[in-house]
Amino acid sequence: MSGLERLGEPVFERIAIIGVGLIGSSVARAARECGGARSLVAYDRDAGVRAMVRELGIVDAVAESAAEAVSGADLVVLAVPVGACGAVAAEISTALGAGAILTDVGSVKASVARDVSPHVPAHAIFIPGHPIAGTEHSGPEAGFASLFRGRWWVLTPLDGKGEEAAGRLAALVTAFGSKVETMDVAHHDLVLAVTSHLPHLIAYNIVGTASDFEAVVKSEVIKFSASGFRDFTRLAASDPVMWRDVFLNNREAVLEMLGRFSEDLSALQRMIRSGDGNGLLERFTETRAIRKAIIEAGQDTAAPDFGRLGLGAVADDGATGQPREGGRS
Ligand code: NAP
Repeated sequence: MSGLERLGEPVFERIAIIGVGLIGSSVARAARECGGARSLVAYDRDAGVRAMVRELGIVDAVAESAAEAVSGADLVVLAVPVGACGAVAAEISTALGAGAILTDVGSVKASVARDVSPHVPAHAIFIPGHPIAGTEHSGPEAGFASLFRGRWWVLTPLDGKGEEAAGRLAALVTAFGSKVETMDVAHHDLVLAVTSHLPHLIAYNIVGTASDFEAVVKSEVIKFSASGFRDFTRLAASDPVMWRDVFLNNREAVLEMLGRFSEDLSALQRMIRSGDGNGLLERFTETRAIRKAIIEAGQDTAAPDFGRLGLGAVADDGATGQPREGGRS
């Protein structure tokens, strides 16, 4: 069990989830366990996923179109890749009922706000959102109800509108165990560029460089992967479509952070070349303090091996209060 407490009264009558992958299915599971909605309906464009969701029984109904799912829903959650949000919003536009709240879970916010907003009728309200939680796995079987527990859920209301709607949404995700933070879309994209997008880009690059040396990858690199490379491979195993969309849609912030990263890397390169041990020591001491701050903020454990359980151990995403996988976004 996820350890989520049941609400006395549901926050929403009917929640529609469009896109039932890792995040959409986790929203469904968390909403069901905390009793966040009287009924849950889902739609995914992939017929195989729809069949799997029916089999998993994590929602009350699986619709055959996005518009059918949205009809009669007072909360609609877009849980599709960032680049697909605009097209889905266009598809459901006329089905959104009076007073319906539309939100998304996309890892980039400015482009989603830009793409979705034109399709939101005046009688509905769009509150973009982003749970800072995830794993490198995809699909409806990868989700779990405790994914959001102890993690931040960022809401980015547009033009200061929708205070009441944001409050209801916050009540739901708080019942999922999340902590809510509100910020504007541009600030979100800049912060996430450095905390999530750049690290993923670096991981994709490092693992890509190693895999170019195919003969080595098949032997020594994999064999000795415990020392650093292995942790990059976990990030670099993340969903390719999702991450393609993140980089295409948060281009400016990522390029800005990449520029800073390249300068800092050159500085480290110079220190190594010139034998500047004190410089290296100073830099590494600073970075160690960041790790300490993350643990103190409850965003990871101090357990060795990056908080992961040893090989062969049984994962426990309930009792320990820790997510099953490293929470990412
Ligand atoms: P996922 O596991 O790949 O699931 C996405 C699902 O949406 C897939 O089944 C996909 O079907 C479906 N889909 C795509 N386009 C659609 C459309 N037009 N209409 C209906 N369904 C559609 O992805 P995910 O990891 O859950 O990510 C979903 C969103 O959450 C993304 O915006 C991502 O940025 C955000 N997010 C992800 C994480 C993470 O760690 N994974 C964390 C926080 C936020 P197909 O397979 O046919 O494309």
